[in-house]
Amino acid sequence: MTRVLVVEDEPQIVRALVINLKARKYHVDAAHDGATALQLAAARHPDVVLLDLGLPDMDGVEVIKGLRGWTRVPIIVLSARHTSDEKVEALDAGADDYVTKPFGMDELLARLRAAVRRAEPTGSGEEGVVVETATFIVDLAAKKVHRGGADVRLTPTEWQLVEVLVRNTGRLVSQKQLLQEVWGPSYGKETNYLRVYMAQLRRKLEADPSHPRHFITEPGMGYRFEK
Ligand code: CA
Repeated sequence: MTRVLVVEDEPQIVRALVINLKARKYHVDAAHDGATALQLAAARHPDVVLLDLGLPDMDGVEVIKGLRGWTRVPIIVLSARHTSDEKVEALDAGADDYVTKPFGMDELLARLRAAVRRAEPTGSGEEGVVVETATFIVDLAAKKVHRGGADVRLTPTEWQLVEVLVRNTGRLVSQKQLLQEVWGPSYGKETNYLRVYMAQLRRKLEADPSHPRHFITEPGMGYRFEK
């Protein structure tokens, strides 16, 4: 059974989450503040954490940092905040995804299932090496992309971008994380690089580059690859 830790101080949201999660056979623990969340996480070892950023005793980002000191449990941030800075801060602190309040329960549950699935060990290690979309196929082992039966010629930088995004399929990758993984640890603010390279990638891989279906921009935050 998948165990979910809900960290939220608004009783109505907690109630809605608990009812919906239990109806889908999740085991649910709920914490109404950050200190309780850290205690419950250590005691119960949840499989996924749903975390409100605005808690009465501490900032949700501090909870993320506290958890990341010892666990890689997937953390999905529930945020009512509208500035992307705070969401980016949460992602950089180690959150896996975020859902903006007010959220639809179906969307939240889909994100939760995806986060749990990504956290599962991949068994043979071969699984997920080839990722197929309607338009192109990414072979992570061979480091190749095929489209319409032919190899697509990608520059090393384009390939690295594809690789990072595809390995995080369905998950938002922050601008800073992409820059650091592809260009190096001293990068982080050169978001214009990302715009240029993502435009090139879309021209090579998207059926309609001006309406991308696979390389999605999350404005001000980062990028997400969808199959
Ligand atoms: Ca709150």
